[in-house]
Amino acid sequence: MQPVDVIIVGGGPCGLAAGIEAAKAGLSHLILEMGSLTESIRQYPRRMRFFSTAENIEIGGLPFAISDVKAGRDEALQYYRKAAAYYHLNFKLFEKVWDVTKEGELFTVTTTTGGTYYAHKVIMATGYFTRPRWLNIPGEKLPHVSHYYDEPFKYSFTNVVIIGASNSAVEAALELYRHDVNITVVHRGEDFRSTVKYWLVPDVKNRVKEGKIKTVFNACVTQIDEHSITVNDLKTGEERQIPADFVFILTGYIPDAALLTRCGIDLNPETQVPVFDRETFETNVPGLYVCGTVLAGIYTEKVFIENGREHAQSIIDHIMGREVHKVAELIQRI
Ligand SMILES: Cc1cc2nc3c(=O)[nH]c(=O)nc-3n(C[C@H](O)[C@H](O)[C@H](O)COP(=O)(O)OP(=O)(O)OC[C@H]3O[C@@H](n4cnc5c(N)ncnc54)[C@H](O)[C@@H]3O)c2cc1C
Repeated sequence: MQPVDVIIVGGGPCGLAAGIEAAKAGLSHLILEMGSLTESIRQYPRRMRFFSTAENIEIGGLPFAISDVKAGRDEALQYYRKAAAYYHLNFKLFEKVWDVTKEGELFTVTTTTGGTYYAHKVIMATGYFTRPRWLNIPGEKLPHVSHYYDEPFKYSFTNVVIIGASNSAVEAALELYRHDVNITVVHRGEDFRSTVKYWLVPDVKNRVKEGKIKTVFNACVTQIDEHSITVNDLKTGEERQIPADFVFILTGYIPDAALLTRCGIDLNPETQVPVFDRETFETNVPGLYVCGTVLAGIYTEKVFIENGREHAQSIIDHIMGREVHKVAELIQRI
């Protein structure tokens, strides 16, 4: 295949933003996406609503026109598809990148299906949602256990345990409780995480007070069995079983460090944050860039669409040798 000017690995909102900036700059480009377009968002809870307003998750300056203030999952999926079509972006779907190598000035990108692509520049925009934070406990891979919450109706009138106490856990617990699910939240901390959105806190706290959502705090799950989980009380050391027909482990996700390392990108051993220039997003491999949430390492709550979409313009400015667009100062703190 003829080399293109730039290959973008990952067709999420930030990867698409990079594709749009490349197209606007007249660069030949190819987006390689392992799933459907914006696959991560397609795997979000079916009935989720973004916490950002629609205009704050727009890309390429294309208006995200909805009658409501905040978009739902389906609206966002449709918007990003229309944006890709509007800018005639070149992409290959269901093509998972395995590694990126460089010889001279040319990059070779190989995929798990044996595909080989060539480019002068490569942008890694692979996010974090494909890599759950595993608990590494017995039973974690049983069929009734998942790291991805989907929708409530399947679980009505069953016992469901949620492990975790962040936004995703609280939103899932409230939705399941409202669909006649017997819900228990288990978390090693004292309480729900302080990062829980302020509008969710009174709702979940009142449901707990009313006994409609059960919580087991200061506890660690040590095993998952077919019909129950075993928890260890971190204060007393006592062990007990909690009935569970289904278990959701909503303890977050982290970028695919193994993939970045295979591509030659150095990572901070503690934080998993890649080595990259805070203005141009170029990594320690000249011509290889990081874009969007993939650069957050363990700080996944610090980079999201609102700020990650900005990385694209800085990267393409640098590739074009133009004055680089300065992103907000947040990135300096990662
Ligand atoms: C429930 C929920 C609500 C959220 N609400 C908001 C919000 O309101 N506002 C906001 O700004 N952010 C929000 N976020 C965060 C936001 O969705 C993510 O930060 C965003 O998806 C990041 O975009 P991205 O393009 O960096 O990564 P992703 O959207 O994860 O895209 C990365 C893409 O790369 C693909 N990929 C991964 N590995 C490979 C590979 N090896 N080869 C090829 N393709 C690969 C993936 O399939 C994926 O499609 C929310 C997240 C969740 C879970």
